Amino acid sequence: MLNNTQITTYQAQLESEKKKIQQELSNFGVAKKNDPHDFDSFMPSIGLSEEDNALEVSEYLNKLCAESLLEARLKEIVEALHKIKTGTFGICEKCHQDIEIKKLDVNPASDFCINCGKYLN
Ligand SMILES: [Zn+2]
Repeated sequence: MLNNTQITTYQAQLESEKKKIQQELSNFGVAKKNDPHDFDSFMPSIGLSEEDNALEVSEYLNKLCAESLLEARLKEIVEALHKIKTGTFGICEKCHQDIEIKKLDVNPASDFCINCGKYLN
């Protein structure tokens, strides 16, 4: 079992990562009114020539990809923070054993212990 000090440390890590991601996402677009965790990308406008258009599209796709990765990570963090509140943080979702500290140190938002995580990735 994790003690309170450990949980507080992970919580602080998660909160600061959450803030960073939200900030990065705000560069992509504006938060949707009904869901503050989902952001709309806006299409960059570089120019009107065909090359400019191609560049705009590829930049837009790069952004969308980065945006969806950030959103997925944000979702994991929000879930982990929720687990802290409900007292299930640090417990493997599959085998219900404690998740190893060394795994939580790498990613405090881990859902599975090392053993269970092996079969899922
Ligand atoms: Zn497990």
